[in-house]
Amino acid sequence: MRVIIAGSGFGGLQAALELRGKKEVTEIIIIDSNQTMIYQPDLVYINKGSNYINKKSINLKKLYKSGFSKKQSIKFYNERVVEVRPRDNVLVTSNRKLDFDYLILAFGSVNNYIGIIGSKYSLCLKTPSDYLKVKSEIDDLFLKAKHYSKPSKVVLVGGGVTGVELAAEIKKKVGKYLDVILTHHANRLMNSFPYKVSVYVQKTLKKLGVEIMLGKLAKRFEKGVVVFNDGLTIDASLIIWCGGVKPNPVNYECALRTNQHGAIMVNDYLYSPSKKNIYSVGDGAYQFQNPQPMTAQNAIHQGKHAAKNILLILGKKN
Ligand SMILES: Cc1cc2nc3c(=O)[nH]c(=O)nc-3n(C[C@H](O)[C@H](O)[C@H](O)COP(=O)(O)OP(=O)(O)OC[C@H]3O[C@@H](n4cnc5c(N)ncnc54)[C@H](O)[C@@H]3O)c2cc1C
Repeated sequence: MRVIIAGSGFGGLQAALELRGKKEVTEIIIIDSNQTMIYQPDLVYINKGSNYINKKSINLKKLYKSGFSKKQSIKFYNERVVEVRPRDNVLVTSNRKLDFDYLILAFGSVNNYIGIIGSKYSLCLKTPSDYLKVKSEIDDLFLKAKHYSKPSKVVLVGGGVTGVELAAEIKKKVGKYLDVILTHHANRLMNSFPYKVSVYVQKTLKKLGVEIMLGKLAKRFEKGVVVFNDGLTIDASLIIWCGGVKPNPVNYECALRTNQHGAIMVNDYLYSPSKKNIYSVGDGAYQFQNPQPMTAQNAIHQGKHAAKNILLILGKKN
């Protein structure tokens, strides 16, 4: 039995770990367009050294070469998946065509500017290169700020987990020398979390000196300016977009039913109702009977369960 895992981030890697050494699965093929798995939750730690995020990344080629059972064939292809043909049980990468018995899709997400005009005037935080850009801009502003009489402003747009954590990290570094402003469209930060979490987070950020602006929907970025839909504008030396992500658009090339955001619809067993041998996990999956947040914890959980379900079908009870 050949299982292909497409995308080896939190969800895909967990699925591979679960399938390793299981005799029912004679062949596992893992495909990722990156050679390393990026530990995204740590991208907010911009006060660490430039090499920090690389040190936290996992080299997939090395990982899949070692530590797995000799009875199983494990292959890792550092290639981009371009298409899935569910009817033929075929997956196509930039270099080859592969048949599968079971497939686990785990392509994650990409930044989502939600219709904001002028995204090029902002930075974002999704990859190690974003991390380095944000870090270097903050370092640079901080150096210059000490020579100015009035502090410059760093504006973070989006008060979810990333915006909150990053605002705190930046303020801890720049102190009184830079103003850090966090804007959010809803009337409380981290509004998908319980109310008391928002209260705690707002209190903590205020104590650190972060200015919080709630109920502000950003509409447009211009060079050094954030424009909100109520007409308010804020001058900013640096704009950082923390407003959200959307499922990886490669999902549209998989010929499976997606929701309005492009996430592959899966049932509670994590397979597509129209295709029982294709599972989807993590940020790119939409569990329509029981929607889950786009978090690493959830991707890990789903990766594990997709693999377990495949093993159960193949006759092994874990
Ligand atoms: C700044 C930041 C902070 C975060 N903080 C937290 C946190 O504190 N707690 C938390 O739980 N979550 C956090 N998250 C969210 C968490 O990182 C994601 O929910 C998680 O990474 C999703 O896992 P995944 O397996 O779905 O996708 P990913 O981990 O993104 O993995 C997707 C993989 O697919 C590969 N891929 C993509 N397209 C292709 C293709 N066409 N072909 C082959 N491979 C492809 C990618 O290279 C990648 O390795 C944070 C995210 C960010 C950006």
